[in-house]
Amino acid sequence: MRVFSLESVIEEFEALTKDAGRLQRETLRKILEQNGEAEYLQSLGLGGRTDPGSFKACVPLATHSDLQPYIQRIVDGETSPILTGKPITSISLSSGTTQGKPKFIPFNDELVHSTMQIYRTSFAFRNREYPIGNGKALQFIYSSKQVKTKGGLTATTATTNVYRSKQFKHTMKDIQSQCCSPDEVIFGSDFQQSLYCHLLCGLIYSDEVQLVSSTFAHSIVHAFRTFEQVWEELCEDIREGVLSSRITIPSMRAAVSKLLRPNPSLAYSIYNKCASLSNWYGLIPELWPNAKYVCGIMTGSMEPYLKKLRHYAGSLPLMSADYGSSEGWIGANVNPSLPPESATFAVLPNIGYFEFIPLKRPEEQGEENSASTIHYVEAEPIGLAEVEVGKEYEILVTNFAGLYRYRLGDVVKVAGFHNSTPELQFICRRSLVLSINIDKNTEKDLQLAVEEAAKLLAAEKLELVDFTSHVDTSTDPGHYVIFWELCSKTAEDVLRSCCNCLDLSFVDAGYVSSRKVGAIGPLELRVVRKGTFHKILDHYLGLGGAVSQFKTPRFVSSSNSNVLQILNRNVSGCYFSTAYGM
Ligand code: AMP
Repeated sequence: MRVFSLESVIEEFEALTKDAGRLQRETLRKILEQNGEAEYLQSLGLGGRTDPGSFKACVPLATHSDLQPYIQRIVDGETSPILTGKPITSISLSSGTTQGKPKFIPFNDELVHSTMQIYRTSFAFRNREYPIGNGKALQFIYSSKQVKTKGGLTATTATTNVYRSKQFKHTMKDIQSQCCSPDEVIFGSDFQQSLYCHLLCGLIYSDEVQLVSSTFAHSIVHAFRTFEQVWEELCEDIREGVLSSRITIPSMRAAVSKLLRPNPSLAYSIYNKCASLSNWYGLIPELWPNAKYVCGIMTGSMEPYLKKLRHYAGSLPLMSADYGSSEGWIGANVNPSLPPESATFAVLPNIGYFEFIPLKRPEEQGEENSASTIHYVEAEPIGLAEVEVGKEYEILVTNFAGLYRYRLGDVVKVAGFHNSTPELQFICRRSLVLSINIDKNTEKDLQLAVEEAAKLLAAEKLELVDFTSHVDTSTDPGHYVIFWELCSKTAEDVLRSCCNCLDLSFVDAGYVSSRKVGAIGPLELRVVRKGTFHKILDHYLGLGGAVSQFKTPRFVSSSNSNVLQILNRNVSGCYFSTAYGM
């Protein structure tokens, strides 16, 4: 019988973070000892040394493309130790939404293990402040396609690798978060059908549901937008005890049908609750009266969905989940009561060796620049114990799955310390999205500009469903294009004002000066028809992506022609900014 105690999880975390610097050195030693015979490390001349100094002197910083040739040989089935001592057991496909194509990343049991440690840690802290009872979780989780590589390894998304693992079920039980839906729903091959069944199972167990969650907040918002369309059908299924004919996958039908009995009183109660809601405000607590909170990653590129999520969550608190990537986890949210906008992630010093590249503002950029418009000068990477509160860093990961000084591409800020381990705030992806000449804008800059312009929509009670951007260089000079999907038809004059507001909200000095002298043309707002972003999601799923890891690409380059075509074919209106008089 396994005994799981929240106090012991907290105690363990307190112990791990007591002397994080020492534990980091030990973790590095373990990683290098385990993998010392791997070809990659051998070729760098470490010669069995495992101390941070030798490691930094011998091992170069690596991007994904530096490691790609090694990973490719693993994918192709070479079994000699290439990146790790023990063989890699499967391959993760990262969402790759930004680049437009998935990346291969090594995966092994160590990653499952650290994922569970992260889940348990944040749950223990969350449960201390927001205790949940025994029950179930309405989890919008989806596996993605699993394919065999030429070398016989399973390649699938990192989340699927985790859901497949034995430990996942144990941990969900430990943290009282067992999914309402059977495995046939999570592992179903059609996302729309899985989503419908998740909603249905959630309703069947509506009194038992203690929390609503997903990996990224986007999936929760997407689920309830869908609920608005299908709620009557769900009620009918519950009333009659017969699953809708839209579920055609036999295993899913069988598994969900087993849970269905005709239940007219439940159907009647759900129907009345839905009918009484005003614009679906507070939908979650109304239908799941025992839910204590809504949980998922809500930071970074998920922030634009917070408004809608709060609308559905009504009085329920939002808990921002942990920070990690397909490449490995980094930190757990141990301050659950902070609102998602200021969520922090305490680094777990035993799951990897973390370094931080200090990012400094160039001299000419004054303090008045917002966090996002800073473009950085790099200094030498420093260790976890040396970071300073208030400073920003790019994070480097070395872990048990064959990544060494790997540039994750994320910018984080140190918000404080938990014992001696830093608590990080996610700032943004490092890469620029919008840039034509001297202008520089990150995803975050785009998000801020869109938020500013969307205020004009809110004043008209209109809602932005999703957005992305593109640089159009087919015009001379080139110009920024912002794509918007809106909930309902919007007056032309409002959209013209939004377009001007967007143009003026890119405050990066390079952009402003280029616009003033006409080196960048007027910003263009292209409004796309309802459902366009759903088509983009479907496109990525077709490439083997997973809904559980989906992040709307905030920039679509010309080389990503499929997505660009989806967008352009669905344009219903175009507006050019007159903000700079041309
Ligand atoms: P993936 O490649 O699909 O595994 O996505 C990993 C990326 O998602 C990270 O590098 C981050 O940019 C982003 N991400 C993951 N967790 C968080 C979080 N808690 N807050 C903000 N962004 C996150």
